[in-house]
Amino acid sequence: MKWEIQGMHEVKHFINGEFVGSKSGKTFPNISPATGQQIGVVHEAGREEVDQAVQAAQDALKGEWGYLPVAERMALLHKVADGINARFDEFLEAECLDTGKPGSLARHVDIPRGAANFKIFADLVKNVPTESFMLDTPDGQGALNYAVRQPKGVIAVISPWNLPLLLMTWKVGPALACGNTVVVKPSEETPSTTTLLGEVMNDAGVPKGVFNVVHGFGPNSAGEYLTTNKAIDGITFTGETRTGSAILKATADNITHVSFELGGKNPALIFADCDMEAALEGTLRSAFANCGQVCLGTERVYVERPIFDEFLARLKQGVENMKLGAWDDPTTSMGPLISKEHQQKVLSYYEKAVEEGANVVTGGGMPEMPGDLAGGSWVQPTIWTGLSEDASVVKEEIFGPCCHVAPFDSEEEVIAKANDTDYGLAAAVWTSDLARAHRVAAQVEAGIVWVNSWFLRDLRTPFGGMKASGIGREGGVHSLEFYTELKNVCIKL
Ligand code: NAD
Repeated sequence: MKWEIQGMHEVKHFINGEFVGSKSGKTFPNISPATGQQIGVVHEAGREEVDQAVQAAQDALKGEWGYLPVAERMALLHKVADGINARFDEFLEAECLDTGKPGSLARHVDIPRGAANFKIFADLVKNVPTESFMLDTPDGQGALNYAVRQPKGVIAVISPWNLPLLLMTWKVGPALACGNTVVVKPSEETPSTTTLLGEVMNDAGVPKGVFNVVHGFGPNSAGEYLTTNKAIDGITFTGETRTGSAILKATADNITHVSFELGGKNPALIFADCDMEAALEGTLRSAFANCGQVCLGTERVYVERPIFDEFLARLKQGVENMKLGAWDDPTTSMGPLISKEHQQKVLSYYEKAVEEGANVVTGGGMPEMPGDLAGGSWVQPTIWTGLSEDASVVKEEIFGPCCHVAPFDSEEEVIAKANDTDYGLAAAVWTSDLARAHRVAAQVEAGIVWVNSWFLRDLRTPFGGMKASGIGREGGVHSLEFYTELKNVCIKL
């Protein structure tokens, strides 16, 4: 990034097309999770900056952006996607420095998907049909009803740190495609790529005030100031279930519309008739990719008893082959956790598992890392067996590179275990029996069920969670339910 103070990058707010610092002068450090060292300075927004950003977004709705023909709006969003791709390496470096994730992962997932989110929703919105009904009336003349979709208004986007660019653009893409304006508050841990996107917006010619960014924390900081601002028309949030609950309380007085993508405790159901290679590869990815910090990731693995021992031994081998290392080392397969605080949380679960009687199959502690990496928030990828279904690490979302593996004997038993959770985000079913695949998928309580795959994403499909894993669905036309207001016009003929 081109802004620097004292040799470190300086991350400012992006309000009404300009990069601005906080009036209060308040900043917080941007820490590298790989080394524990400070790599940047981030401005913290007070209520004043948040209100300014919301005002800019409101004004932009009434300006040029509000009158742009749909085709021109969509062309702008294509330019934004092209702009991200043109600066691919800058986005890649910024994302990997903030998160510590392997460059190989961000190169194939975070950055390209971050760009694609703008194109996909631009193309989708262009092709949405209008609903219309003819109504018979007593005078025989009839009436024509048609439903029009209008932008919801100013959307607050509050995003997490695990896939910063991807999850933020997953919301900003459809919000802008539908004609809204946005104020984004990225996670305090990962402020950089969202800020860089401000430059791309300006270069693409997106009118000032359409895309705004404010930095800070949740309570008594930018997050709370944004969610309690009366001029916000909708809040789209991805993060912890607990935070979703705090936001719901904060929005009660204003009845602000919300769309929530929350936590999970996702199961994998692995039947003896599965393709073992595919199930192993999929489970290794789903439990350990991004250091286990994927909302859709697997933390509970149930394996049918006849293949339990073999599956466990091979999963252990796969985990022990993983290489922890720096983001720009091409041989790295796993990075650190996002922060020291998160490292402490995950390690406390590692201790609890042992206290509750787990058998530690592999890992269970902190690895020794060389050189600068010794100061980072690393943990060993870990597998446990032997716990009961009510143990803490089987019940609670850990969001780290770990899973509990348990045997099962029947379809009914594994479905009951899979559903015995407050969450309902995702599940993976591994079987070669087609009838069973349909039967089990129908009974698992999760918004997304993968059969013989994991993270195979078609962005046109509904995405979201049941139970405590979310409110609403985004993705494809489902995003329109939240990002637009549907208005029925009835014309008496
Ligand atoms: P988090 O809830 O701690 O923070 C998310 C965002 O909310 C951050 O920007 C944070 O500053 C902000 N925030 C925190 N408290 C707030 C408040 N009171 N008011 C307004 N904003 C507030 O989540 P995280 O630790 O960044 O991310 C990890 C969590 O996100 C996990 O639980 C994971 O399962 C979940 N997640 C879910 C999905 C999904 O699609 N369902 C995707 C990714 C992550």
